[in-house]
Amino acid sequence: MPSVYPVEESAVSTPLQARPGVETKRVLCASCDISCNVTAEVKKGRVVRVRSSDNPIFRDNICMKGIVAPKGFAHPQRLLQPLRRVGERGSGRWEEVGWDEAMNDIARRLRSIIEQHGPESWAVSESPWNTCTDSGLARRMMNYLGTPNFISGVALCAGNTAAINRMTYGWFPMADFMNTECIVLFGHNPRRNSWVPVYNQVRRAQARGAKLIVLDPRKSSSAERADLWLPLRAGTDAAMCLGWLNVILEEGLYDRAFVDKWTIGFEDLRERVSEYPVERVAAITGCDAEMIREAARMYATNGPSIIPWTPITDMQRNSTSGIRLHGILRSVCGYVDVPGGELLHGFHPDVVPESEIERHDVLSEDQKAKQLGADSHPAFTHRGQAAFREPMKRVWGHEFPNQVAGCYMANPSATFRAMAGEGPYPVKAFFALGNNTLMSFANMPLILRAMMNQDLIVVHEQFMTPTAQLADYVLPADSWLERPWLHDSFGWSSMVRPAEKAMDPPGACESTFSFWRRLAVALDREDIVPWATLEELYDHRLEKTGMTFDEFAKTYEIFFAPAQYRKYEKRGFATPSGKVELKSSVLESLGFDPLPYFRDDPPPNPEYPLMMFTGVREDEYFQTGHRHVPELRARKPEPILFVSPRTAKHHGVREGDWAEVSNPTGKISLLVGVRPAMPDGLVRIPHGWWKPEMKQGAGHLSGALTYSDAMLCPDDDDFLDREQGIPHLKGIPCRIRRLDAAPEGAT
Ligand code: SF4
Repeated sequence: MPSVYPVEESAVSTPLQARPGVETKRVLCASCDISCNVTAEVKKGRVVRVRSSDNPIFRDNICMKGIVAPKGFAHPQRLLQPLRRVGERGSGRWEEVGWDEAMNDIARRLRSIIEQHGPESWAVSESPWNTCTDSGLARRMMNYLGTPNFISGVALCAGNTAAINRMTYGWFPMADFMNTECIVLFGHNPRRNSWVPVYNQVRRAQARGAKLIVLDPRKSSSAERADLWLPLRAGTDAAMCLGWLNVILEEGLYDRAFVDKWTIGFEDLRERVSEYPVERVAAITGCDAEMIREAARMYATNGPSIIPWTPITDMQRNSTSGIRLHGILRSVCGYVDVPGGELLHGFHPDVVPESEIERHDVLSEDQKAKQLGADSHPAFTHRGQAAFREPMKRVWGHEFPNQVAGCYMANPSATFRAMAGEGPYPVKAFFALGNNTLMSFANMPLILRAMMNQDLIVVHEQFMTPTAQLADYVLPADSWLERPWLHDSFGWSSMVRPAEKAMDPPGACESTFSFWRRLAVALDREDIVPWATLEELYDHRLEKTGMTFDEFAKTYEIFFAPAQYRKYEKRGFATPSGKVELKSSVLESLGFDPLPYFRDDPPPNPEYPLMMFTGVREDEYFQTGHRHVPELRARKPEPILFVSPRTAKHHGVREGDWAEVSNPTGKISLLVGVRPAMPDGLVRIPHGWWKPEMKQGAGHLSGALTYSDAMLCPDDDDFLDREQGIPHLKGIPCRIRRLDAAPEGAT
């Protein structure tokens, strides 16, 4: 969550406006990963309404997903009891069991798999908004039990950005929207109902005169409001940044004093950048050369400028270079750790960070070395991050700061291959908590094979997702209205925010904290999770403040360490050299190009003449969630692809047709939407579609096999970022053809 709040001081709680007979609670919405401060109204022990906060700092920060959350959580399909599989995997036959019985059996089977194949044969996938409510207990359990094989969707979204940002200046910075003069959005399109606090701050910044530059193949709503819109070809962010740098260095628009004193590798960078003259970049990106120059000058001379985190650059063949180039632009222009620029926060000194709870120090070096993917794509694995241990300790006081849960992960594709029996060693137990793993990574056919090859799958979820349908145990999860939360900004900043529990969970639903505590007890390892309740764990983390969690939650809505700028002047940067590494010593030592570069698409394949991109959020949904909520489905009942009018005509489809989209990885069916804002030849594929009302079980998976974009996303080398091994989702060859009949489940 970028720094969209004032960073100067903590915000003491404002009184809540209460209606007669209605209790109010301050909560943090987790219906997406933004975590807006909102108010829950409670009547007779149930949340009857979620509305915006009464605090002026947060007042406008709410969207339709937050508002309908109480209805979504009260849905009749909510899982309320632990379920154990009784038929074949994916048969859809279950029996209800108690938590104790379930956890004792899970512990017994997990112990047996570990004894037979080693602890690394156990992999876990978790989403960070769940991880955050367990305060890092997933990693803690894994580290104590000896497995490094944690994966998460943050490998494609913010977590990988955190790990790669370190390679330049040793931390993942937060953009200071409140004070900036120029905002650059790479493909990012914050809207009234998506990334709401960011949308509000962009509008406020523009209202006070800040410039907005948008780079997006589509003329998005942000592009329509921009001072400059560059319609770059999807997936060419790194090339565009190299072009900007070419202008900035050639024209001397950089901060010479900062570069001279605080960077290494400037001359090497200059030489590399000289390979990307603006005309070459214009040819790669499809943008006008003069506009590229104008944008580069605007960024460099209207500062302090920000390039806020964007999930778009996270998901590209050149993601490592693209993310590094954002950092290099910030650095050479002198925008790092200055007001209105990109702030290096560190942790709050009075709150125990989740990274400390995670205890990455107890996992042995031998086990760290077994982390899947570390040999081929090490950037965010323990191997790739090992060189930062000493610098992190020196500058930030922690050897293993795990920002956005993304800094010590296994590679997802390598993990699925091991799970599918392709080596290098067996992975036979898989746990997914708050994570619809099957549909959340590239190459869904591979993930399906991987799951069918498991001896034990445990899923902790609110609904029977396609992933849950393949499990041995499905355990009912609580929601963000039903638990307290100490939110430390995913370890990204010193901003800490508490949320009160608004009501009790229904049925036998329990938190992720409870899951890990129960597992520890069932394994006779209570020492790993010594706190009896989540509140006790939060009390421990807040000890230095002299407050219990309850007192803290009643006192603060935001708890900030007072902002300090240019901290590097005292402690240097948390890189091996202590400076901003324009040429990365870490990438070099790992055997990669230490300078940023652009690798173009593989040669065109005439059988698949179109390019698709996916991963873009829709206002109604977050990732694979919310499709069960009637109010949201009524707004968007079907998955819709977008193409330009000319592309539609050329490929024989019209608005409202059903079409098959296919490529060598798979095929899916989508409704056609014809949009003039789309460039010719590009297909926008909606992300994360399944239909909870459709038939469950293997062979159906509630429509996931028919609609999920993950069926189309390849993970072979041509489509992987070299350093991280994450898939390219912004330019995948495909073709479309009109379907004569609507697919199963269409309305
Ligand atoms: Fe909730 Fe909407 Fe805010 Fe996301 S943007 S946290 S869904 S209110």
